[in-house]
Amino acid sequence: MSDQPKPPRFPLTVTDIRQFDYCPRVVYFTYVQPLERPITYKMEHGLSAEQRIAALERRRTLHRYHLQHGERLFDHWLRSEPLGLAGRADMLILAPEAVYPVEFKYSDGGVSHNHRLQLTAYALMAENHFSRPAHYGFICRLTDGQVWRVSTTGQWREKVHLTLQRIRVMLDTERFPAPPKRRGKCVDCEYRRFCGDV
Ligand code: SF4
Repeated sequence: MSDQPKPPRFPLTVTDIRQFDYCPRVVYFTYVQPLERPITYKMEHGLSAEQRIAALERRRTLHRYHLQHGERLFDHWLRSEPLGLAGRADMLILAPEAVYPVEFKYSDGGVSHNHRLQLTAYALMAENHFSRPAHYGFICRLTDGQVWRVSTTGQWREKVHLTLQRIRVMLDTERFPAPPKRRGKCVDCEYRRFCGDV
């Protein structure tokens, strides 16, 4: 068996995980065939709303998370060498017994599959960084302040690892991925003009 240290993994971000889950081609267009990505109104609007909520959040108590104590860390960068992953969490609540990632979402509707993956990726890195469990976190909808408590264990951790693996296979092979089964995703997609088959 070789004692040689493993080469560092290609660094991926939590945004890559979320986007790959939405459509693998978005990550392909980020790394394999980079394109200039236009900033859409929705992206700018979402950002300013996130900034507003972060300012509001600083004045709120932890009551709506049903937590008694905790220090809030905003826009906190996390990194994991073993996962080859990094990302900036919207908020972390650092309590004596655990750390809770919080993600703010701008869109209407409930908690999506890719929000859960994203939250779990932050939980994995936060757990390692702060040496305390991160078994669940919260998704906060910006439009009305609705908060969901979301599990970040079990199948969600497996899905994060599997997604990272699938992204790396795509990058290694440089194979252009198939479009998503739900073609409704393509309607508003800023990459649509680069996908000739949708
Ligand atoms: S247009 Fe459709 S297939 Fe192309 S990147 Fe967007 S979601 Fe994916």
